[in-house]
Amino acid sequence: MLVVAGPPMWWLWRRPLARRGWLPQTGRNALGAVAGLAVVTLAALLAFQDLASLMRNDRSLRYMINPLNTVYAATRLAADELRDQGRELLPTGEDARPGPSYAGQRRPPLLLVVVGETARARNFGLNGYPRETTPALARWQAAQGLVNFGPVESCGTSTQVSLPCMFSPLAREQGGDRSADRENLLDVLHRAGLAVLWIDNRAGCKGVCARVPTVSTTRLRVPGLCADGECFDEVMLRDLDARIAALDAQRRARGVVVVMHQMGSHGPAYFRRTPPGRKPFQPECASNTLSDCTAESLRNAYDNTIAYTDHFLDLALQWLKTRADAGAWDTGLVYVSDHGESLGENGLYLHGVARALAPREQTQVPMVLWLSPGLQRRDGLRGECPGERAAQPVSHDHLFHTVLGVMDIATGVHDRSLDALAPCAAR
Ligand SMILES: [Zn+2]
Repeated sequence: MLVVAGPPMWWLWRRPLARRGWLPQTGRNALGAVAGLAVVTLAALLAFQDLASLMRNDRSLRYMINPLNTVYAATRLAADELRDQGRELLPTGEDARPGPSYAGQRRPPLLLVVVGETARARNFGLNGYPRETTPALARWQAAQGLVNFGPVESCGTSTQVSLPCMFSPLAREQGGDRSADRENLLDVLHRAGLAVLWIDNRAGCKGVCARVPTVSTTRLRVPGLCADGECFDEVMLRDLDARIAALDAQRRARGVVVVMHQMGSHGPAYFRRTPPGRKPFQPECASNTLSDCTAESLRNAYDNTIAYTDHFLDLALQWLKTRADAGAWDTGLVYVSDHGESLGENGLYLHGVARALAPREQTQVPMVLWLSPGLQRRDGLRGECPGERAAQPVSHDHLFHTVLGVMDIATGVHDRSLDALAPCAAR
């Protein structure tokens, strides 16, 4: 500080003080400010490409360059805390209880809900993408009755908005995209007496899992699965039996819902989301400065993340099928991504464009469903019906009610018109 600021301060100290009238002084100051702005603008324009991608990759920089940020941030934090203290959590589904299928059940149901990250419907092989990005899911679809819902409308274009909304009883248009102060799907399942577990391989559950058991896998150090402070999504399947066995025994005997929150296709460093042996599309963009990469290598890196999600879901489905075949549980899986991603279409990258203006790439997400024969019987589902139902439009609004339907939870908040499988159920 002294080396840099000392000499000019000494020089300033030595200058005689010049007194001007307030008008000339204001003019001089204004001129200085304009000249400063012009220099900043020129410098920014000269390095615009690099600057834009730097600001995109390190969002916290825009706070760090603002000297008054500490004051602003402290005030805002205090205001938020004060407001939250006075706010009560709105209850949801206080009448929730296990439905008729639980009476005298031979084995409990176990549903795995996989919340995808940044997967867009368009690059999903099952949705007709010309590349085979989902070969494993295609096999499950052909031989094991996996249902593909095609492009599903997301609630928001960011994790922050979509995640609470997907688990909210409110539809997007009812304000589901801003309902953190309301109990959600997990609270309703918990109240009905089921065991609920949230496993997170991303940056937390945005308040959704606040009242249920939670495990974070991001900081694990499993050789081959974790590096540089993050882990590949497969890590969530490790020790899964033990994690479930550690849940409340009485609840576990009734039924279990496990949510896995993926790292998925989170950008801009797509190449970091896939292990070395799982990069079928080459060459792959290996930089997080997206403008440094060709459109083709960027698409390859992104498609590799979808192919890895396909592999991860394959492992999860195998795990579930083994448990069902052994007669331990009636198992099922729902996978749906939180929002899509722009890969340079219309000059846009990443996601987070305001929902009303957002392009399809950011709002159309993939969704698949698989239920073991035992769980289908429990739910009284008629043969081909779920597959036919999947041809109709579905959105994030359906997740809350569809999961309540699959798990047969009786509650007044279960809206059958938003339960994607209700038309297929005998009960
Ligand atoms: Zn997200």
